[in-house]
Amino acid sequence: MPHDVIIVGAGITGAAIARELSRYKLKVLLLEKEAEPAFGVSKSNSGIIHAGTQNPPSSLKGWLCVEGNRLLREELAADLGLNFVQCGQLIVIFDEADLPELEAIKAEGTALGVKGMALVDRAWLDANEPNLGPGVKAALLVPSAGIISPYRYVYALVENAVKNGVELKTSSKVIGVNRIEKGGFYVEAGGQVYTTKFLVNAAGLHADEISGLAGAPSFKITPRKGEEYLLDRKREHIANRIIFPLPTKTSKGILIIKTSDGNPMIGPTAHDADDKADLSTTDAGLQEVLDGARRMMPSISKSDIIAYFAGLRPVSGKDFIIRHEDAAPGLVNAAGIQSPGLTSAPAIAVMVADLLRKHGLPLEPKEQFHRLRPRPAHLFQVPLEETRRLIEKNPAYGDIVCRCELVSAQEVRDAVKRGAVTLDGVKFRTRAQAGRCHGGFCTTRILKIMQEELGFPVTALTKRGPGSELIKEERK
Ligand SMILES: Cc1cc2nc3c(=O)[nH]c(=O)nc-3n(C[C@H](O)[C@H](O)[C@H](O)COP(=O)(O)OP(=O)(O)OC[C@H]3O[C@@H](n4cnc5c(N)ncnc54)[C@H](O)[C@@H]3O)c2cc1C
Repeated sequence: MPHDVIIVGAGITGAAIARELSRYKLKVLLLEKEAEPAFGVSKSNSGIIHAGTQNPPSSLKGWLCVEGNRLLREELAADLGLNFVQCGQLIVIFDEADLPELEAIKAEGTALGVKGMALVDRAWLDANEPNLGPGVKAALLVPSAGIISPYRYVYALVENAVKNGVELKTSSKVIGVNRIEKGGFYVEAGGQVYTTKFLVNAAGLHADEISGLAGAPSFKITPRKGEEYLLDRKREHIANRIIFPLPTKTSKGILIIKTSDGNPMIGPTAHDADDKADLSTTDAGLQEVLDGARRMMPSISKSDIIAYFAGLRPVSGKDFIIRHEDAAPGLVNAAGIQSPGLTSAPAIAVMVADLLRKHGLPLEPKEQFHRLRPRPAHLFQVPLEETRRLIEKNPAYGDIVCRCELVSAQEVRDAVKRGAVTLDGVKFRTRAQAGRCHGGFCTTRILKIMQEELGFPVTALTKRGPGSELIKEERK
């Protein structure tokens, strides 16, 4: 058997599983259909590391969320050089009659092990969140919640997994899975057929299709759309924490979200959809998000919005599906990873490794596991003194390519060296093209640097993979 484990899907779930398995003496292959990791649901979300509240203690996702939050806070953020900001969250109410609902959320959170929660009154809110509207009466403060860049989280996990021996193949869509009679699977992807003892399905919106191909067609994934609206960075300090209303039946409601890169965000909606590829935003979605956000913070206006996107939660019932499929021995599904999947991923990874062990995969630790990943330099995150030091060491840090977001030529070069092969890959890693001008000024510079680093003709460079080429012909 050339591979011990093949993982389908390099979103946050597959990336965390790959990194977890890279601790052991195993031959692991991570297959991703897109040109780069993190181009699925894991790029289009709120970037919140949830505390674990708003999930019933009877749910798997509640426990995995609390543990995923702990693993990131206590280990992964430092080990992988991630910019995790533990800003905390508030769940606000507009009527004191709703206090028992906050008490109930607190009690459920306590049962799950969420620490430090406290009910706070209007006087506390005036002192600590002065932009909240007059309708807000009280809130539950949850200090362990925080924010992260979701795609940089995925890239860090993948980079570290690859450093520890995991093989990554992008542009490799799994189109066939055949069971081998004596055990294991043939997996067809990207024009190759691979063999593996174990198959881990972390294919997000397509996990039902992969499970079916492998012989366990036991669930259906429904996309649940969430529209998000990014505000101008000048509104960065509108809130000090992530602001939630009371949750609805299907979602955590419309939030005011701090993001780790500065721009606040409002959203997301939560509506079941039919099409797994429909990432459109709508006028109705915009209105719903504005109404929800303005109810909590009336000073937010439509003109603050600089960008928008939609993401699709892969939903199957109310909980995650994480199990070995006895109908297809050797298949472990990590499916239905709806919210809080970004938060839960490291805990899901530990659970999947344990399921694999229980079904016969020996987990023998490597003599040398490279736990640490150096933190990439981002000018927008460092103080001026550090910027000066970087420029003294390497003047290319002073050569600013993206003026909106303060990104240097060296950061773009570093991103390509770390694996970016598309313009979106550069944007997600560095923020170049993510500002008000949407790349109007910097795209050509970025293409030039990518061409130099990758050695591709400029006509082969794409926004996000084949079919999104920007330049048709190069005239000498
Ligand atoms: C609007 C919105 C907001 C959210 N906010 C939060 C939040 O704040 N906090 C939080 O914790 N969670 C949040 N979530 C949930 C979170 O984003 C998801 O739970 C998580 O990203 C799921 O990750 P995944 O790796 O399972 O799926 P994905 O990221 O979709 O990864 C699956 C990968 O599999 C690949 N793939 C699919 N089919 C194949 C195939 N046949 N062959 C090869 N590769 C394949 C895909 O291309 C994709 O890259 C939010 C979700 C949405 C939509």
